[in-house]
Amino acid sequence: MTPAARLLAWFDRNGRDLPWRDTRDPYRILVSEMMLQQTQVSRVLVFYRRWLERFPDWQTLAKADNATVIRAWSGLGYNRRALMLRDIARQIVGNPPAPKYQLPGTEAEWLELKGVGPYTSAALAAFSLHERTMPVDTNVRRVLGRLLLGIPFPSPKQDDRIKKAADEFLPERGRYYDVPQALFDLATVVCKKTPNCAVCPMRSLCPAAPKFLSGKVRVPKRSVAKTNESRHRNKLHPDRIYRGRILKLAGRPGGFPLARLGEAIDPGYDGALDRAWIAAMVSRLVADKLARLSRGRVSLPR
Ligand code: SF4
Repeated sequence: MTPAARLLAWFDRNGRDLPWRDTRDPYRILVSEMMLQQTQVSRVLVFYRRWLERFPDWQTLAKADNATVIRAWSGLGYNRRALMLRDIARQIVGNPPAPKYQLPGTEAEWLELKGVGPYTSAALAAFSLHERTMPVDTNVRRVLGRLLLGIPFPSPKQDDRIKKAADEFLPERGRYYDVPQALFDLATVVCKKTPNCAVCPMRSLCPAAPKFLSGKVRVPKRSVAKTNESRHRNKLHPDRIYRGRILKLAGRPGGFPLARLGEAIDPGYDGALDRAWIAAMVSRLVADKLARLSRGRVSLPR
């Protein structure tokens, strides 16, 4: 049995049943991929269904204005993704949408679209076009960096090497497009930041397993993503949580007064210490075109 076949056998028994795995529709796959960036699957499941009811296809999404997509995304976080997704739809079908349009037909063509990076274009190619390619996100990097290169904590610097090694790992024929999905699941339940090598189906093939099983590998305390998250003085949450709350209030009819925003989003708000913090978050939302500030009220852009 090849290493990939062993992984797929484990996937057949343990893989998660997720709605975006039952489709090759690039629209649905792109929606799921955009939502899954930095958001947990359990949360995405709820929003994914709602989003598809509200915006079932490229044309419906392309027609939606900023406020409508931000409102529909509200609660998922990292709201710029909503505008980016809508803008990708507009690049594909036009604005206003044309009755006929041509979808990108290869990984390279997907990558030409603004807002589609190397990971997403590879994911679309693998899951929609069934191209033989490996989308490398944090999870795939972690598993393949360990399994193919023996590096306990691989970084994005190793992505080229991982891609090259993945090309040999992927089967030539058959279900190569299922291999990345299997890697996502292995990363989620077994090969986590602190891996459970003892129960891993890949253990006997993995050069990193003896390192972890010896107990000599030191697990870094903080991930890169967490280090980069900004947090104001002693606030309970990172800023992105408060920005999400601001957008929720901005979505009310007529918006929300800037002067009352602080106490509305944070029970521990201190006017003297936090006013500049609120102003900076609102400025950033305005700069990102997620909110507008007019006559002392914050609202959603049209
Ligand atoms: S053996 Fe351990 S390090 Fe290797 S892939 Fe499995 S869980 Fe990850």
